[in-house]
Amino acid sequence: MSLFPEMHSAHTATVVALRERFGSSPSSILDVLTELKSAEGRLSREVLREVARAYGVPAERVAGMASFYSLLSTGGAQNRTLRICDGVACWMKGANGILSQCESLASDSKEITVTRNSCLGLCDKAPAALLGERQFGPLPDEFESLEQLLALNTLEPKRLPPERPHETRFVLRRPTEFFRKYPDSDGFPPADYRHILRMIEAGPSDIFALLESADLHGLGGAGYPTSRKWRQTAALSAELKYVICNADESEPLSIKDRSLMDVDPHRLLEGMLLAGFAVGARLGIIYIRGEYEPQARKLEQAIEEARIAGWLGQPVGGSGFSFDIHVHRGAGAYICGEETALLESLEGKRGEPRPRPPYPVEVGLNGAPTIVNNVETLVMTSAICEYGIDVFRAIRTEHAVGTKLYGLFGHVKHPGLFEAPRGLKLGELLERYGDLSEDAAFSFALIGGAAGTFADRSRWNHRLDFVHNETTIPMGTGAVLVCNSSVSVPAVLRQLLHFFEVESCGKCTPCRVGTSEARQLLDQLLTGQGTTADLARFEALSRTLKLSLCGLGTSVPIPVASALRHFRNQFEALI
Ligand code: SF4
Repeated sequence: MSLFPEMHSAHTATVVALRERFGSSPSSILDVLTELKSAEGRLSREVLREVARAYGVPAERVAGMASFYSLLSTGGAQNRTLRICDGVACWMKGANGILSQCESLASDSKEITVTRNSCLGLCDKAPAALLGERQFGPLPDEFESLEQLLALNTLEPKRLPPERPHETRFVLRRPTEFFRKYPDSDGFPPADYRHILRMIEAGPSDIFALLESADLHGLGGAGYPTSRKWRQTAALSAELKYVICNADESEPLSIKDRSLMDVDPHRLLEGMLLAGFAVGARLGIIYIRGEYEPQARKLEQAIEEARIAGWLGQPVGGSGFSFDIHVHRGAGAYICGEETALLESLEGKRGEPRPRPPYPVEVGLNGAPTIVNNVETLVMTSAICEYGIDVFRAIRTEHAVGTKLYGLFGHVKHPGLFEAPRGLKLGELLERYGDLSEDAAFSFALIGGAAGTFADRSRWNHRLDFVHNETTIPMGTGAVLVCNSSVSVPAVLRQLLHFFEVESCGKCTPCRVGTSEARQLLDQLLTGQGTTADLARFEALSRTLKLSLCGLGTSVPIPVASALRHFRNQFEALI
């Protein structure tokens, strides 16, 4: 007889049932905690201990997870928590004022909890909000009651926005054909995966050659050559390998992955199937941010359709190759978009980055070789297979072939997504596709996302590229925030630093302390209390941040350096 008889609490049966439903691997703990938070509104110590017991892991580990992920640690029950986005695009459209109004209106409410949220990935609908799984926006500046706000229509973006003048659609062209073909379909019919089967029959070396000919780089922002990554994992002999799609799109100003999954989820599954065959993996996992629940369900539906049609979960055609895909939901942590943090999260831990090397291509999920690719990259591989490399390469600018998805936000008439050739110059991008607002002149742009580069008209002829030199601007995620003279560079930078400060995982000191102190220094400058010494300290902190462990901390100095280099007068004017 055990000296320590098993304790049972009121939650035991619930937790055991959830363990049955989601599985006994610690990687399911996040799903179980999300479900419990949704149902109960909070995660008590007793509940956390029960989960730890059910999974046979230390209680501290489960408590650490509950405090790490924002969907678990903030607000009440998910479907009664109104999350107002304070990403930079929403902030520019008055999100702070809307948040204050909502907090005040909800102060006596037992029904609704209001909280801020880092970028919700709805920058084209800024200012935007999330209630449960309802994504909605743009929110009005003024409203009488929360009921009035919540009566706004939920976004149901089943179609892409109309094609812009001069737009070149390559990866985005199939959805239109699909909708023409199936105008009454509410869902998405199984796509024709036969172009993937053709590549499987051709073999991995043809797939690698195709990626090289397309000069395809990771389109999540890092720009690592896709063929090199796939070859590295393919070269290893291991019983188990994984293909992971990074759909944790949490970078402010990035909406492209959400849009791709909304419009054509099968395209993503095709890309993962292709990657699985090329590297010798049998299992794919889509790690999707918790705020994208409608998209997660759409993917699950598409996976089911593909299984029924014989493309997933069984040998494909006569190849004998079998591959399956699962969807894994995050729980609100920008850092889980960093690939090693994502792997930690998938293993049922806090999403804290791992030191590298070793790289995931060699030692990834559960120690197995793993490729992690962004949604757009995988989707692009499928489109290139379908339409052919010649069609892709025929779209060219002076220094690049093929297309890229771009996003335009801020002071433009039609914020949102579009597809255009790679290698465009800043001026070409804004003049051809920018449709700048007429009310005020262009002042500056932030290019590449939150960790992007500030540029003014002097960089009109610099092209956006993966290559960094004196004539290029890092392309990053392809997002461009356009600002007129009503907003200053220091103010935008402050909002970016606020984001990095909140989203820093806290594991290493340069980032944990540096992002916070840098934001405080900018606050001092922006409120007229800053000194020349503060500006020098701000600059020095930016250099210290380069010593951070992962890409979050090391990328913060990028916007800071470009802001100080090209807009120093705006900072000095604040002193
Ligand atoms: Fe965490 Fe920031 Fe360090 Fe990355 S750089 S490990 S986010 S503290």
